[in-house]
Amino acid sequence: MNAEIIAVGTELLLGQIVNSNAKYLSEQLAEIGVNVYHHTAVGDNPNRLKEVIKVAESRADLLIFTGGLGPTKDDLTKDTIANHINSKLVEDKQAIQTILDYFQKTNRTMTENNRKQALVIEGSHVLPNEHGMAPGMFVKNQSKFYMLLPGPPHEMQPMFRKFGLPAILDEIEVKEKIVSRVLRYFGIGESQLEVEIEDILDEQSNPTIAPLAGDNEVTLRITARHQSEEEATKLIDSMEKRVNERVGQYFYGYDQTTIMKELLKVLQERKLTIAAAESLTGGLFQSEMTSIVGVSTMLIGGVVCYSNKSKMKLLNVKEETINTYGVVSEQCAEELAENVRNLLGTSIGISFTGVAGPDSLEGHPAGTVWIGISFVGKPAKAYKLQLSGSRNGNQKRSVKYGCHYLLKE
Ligand code: ATP
Ligand code: MG
Repeated sequence: MNAEIIAVGTELLLGQIVNSNAKYLSEQLAEIGVNVYHHTAVGDNPNRLKEVIKVAESRADLLIFTGGLGPTKDDLTKDTIANHINSKLVEDKQAIQTILDYFQKTNRTMTENNRKQALVIEGSHVLPNEHGMAPGMFVKNQSKFYMLLPGPPHEMQPMFRKFGLPAILDEIEVKEKIVSRVLRYFGIGESQLEVEIEDILDEQSNPTIAPLAGDNEVTLRITARHQSEEEATKLIDSMEKRVNERVGQYFYGYDQTTIMKELLKVLQERKLTIAAAESLTGGLFQSEMTSIVGVSTMLIGGVVCYSNKSKMKLLNVKEETINTYGVVSEQCAEELAENVRNLLGTSIGISFTGVAGPDSLEGHPAGTVWIGISFVGKPAKAYKLQLSGSRNGNQKRSVKYGCHYLLKE
């Protein structure tokens, strides 16, 4: 089965919103092995929508529409499709009830055009909307499938996952279980990762592997299909093992985790506490850490020491260190890490000092970063990075590198 995703909405063509629905649906369909060969975006115009439908029918088995299911005049997706397949719109009992309940609960009067949202294509399989009022639809006509989904992503995504995907899976002949797992890597670029596992990528069929570059990191999605879920999981396990024999030193976790979360897990397991001295990152490390629940037993606190004065006055960095080596130096990073650890009596001290950019500092180009790490009872050490992003990008990346180095300890 192959699909075409048709996003309906003039605001897409005016550049007011990004077609994130197409991205989401493509990702989801890839996982169940439905090939998406085309994305189309079309305005709220019935004639142009009809043209698009005709073209899509000539090249796809499944047409998935998003947008235009709402109550206003410009919402014309279902009228156009009903008309195109010689069907008509009828009121759906469940949908009208949802709408009536909503207006009663919120004490608002329902306008007549809201009834329009309860109209569905006759004979279609109705996809309930648990986060809004307009239901979705799935309908077959002359060997083609049409799925209609609402535009707002927070309505469309749960509807698709819960009702849309199962409806499509029912139509796909071989009913296989599809299992997928995301492996996350930090400290290796996408192209480098691809080179390392090029032969595996070339020969892949089941499981399939898809590399994806993310926010300063790379992920690999492994997807396996099999009649039995257990067997599919085994296929994934062995692929994971094969891949990580090559690039395991960069691997840090699965699925939705972050490198900061993984760091916190380790700190918790080993009952370690941490303090941070942040010049370059201005508090970002601690801010990201505190965005995770349950961090209070691990993060004791820290110092934002942006100026030389604060490095000296708050963290006792020696004037001599700054005069001899500068603040963008191994020596300064080590002193900061050790002194913040001593100040707060933690097991670990971490420091960030360097040049976020765009200008250079002390003769060091933008992106020069020193990360100091001090463990109680051990001499402090520091790692140097040469980053090439924007000011903010360099700060974010440094925070992740800080987690990465700590995890390697
Ligand atoms: P509503 O009942 O809210 O009118 P609808 O199904 O009629 O929903 P539209 O009117 O086309 O959908 O779009 C509503 C909103 O949904 C848009 O303003 C936009 O925020 C979001 N949206 C629509 N299409 C897309 C898309 N392809 N990608 C991302 N967001 C979208
Ligand atoms: Mg609308």
